Formats: sequence, C-alpha cells, structure tokens
Amino acid sequence: MSKKKKEKLKPCPFCGSENLTINHDYYPSWISCEGCGSLGPEDEDTQEAEKKWNTRIINP
Ligand SMILES: [Zn+2]
Repeated sequence: MSKKKKEKLKPCPFCGSENLTINHDYYPSWISCEGCGSLGPEDEDTQEAEKKWNTRIINP
C-alpha cells in the first residue's frame, strides 16, 4: 500500500508530471512518478528522498 501526501515536490524531470507518489510505507522511502513510472532515489528518510527528488539526482 502506498499513501499519497502533498509535499513540495518538483515536477517529474522526465515527463513534467506533478502526479507524484511518496512511497513512505516501505524502507527505504522513494518518490515515484505516476505519469511515466520513473522512480526517484531511495533514502531511509522520507524527507531526504524528497530532497533528492527535488535536486534531481535521479537513478535511471
Ligand atoms: Zn514522469
């Protein structure tokens, strides 16, 4: 199960979608894009994962 939560996330760097899901029910947390299915960097801290997403250090 994943929950959706409004955070200050930048749009997806790949498709520009703002339809992002923060997966924080797992360890580690990560951000995923509902538009193109890309995944953001994982981090044990959800806020760090969000920060990594926003700085666009995206793993392919
Ligand atoms: Zn996307």
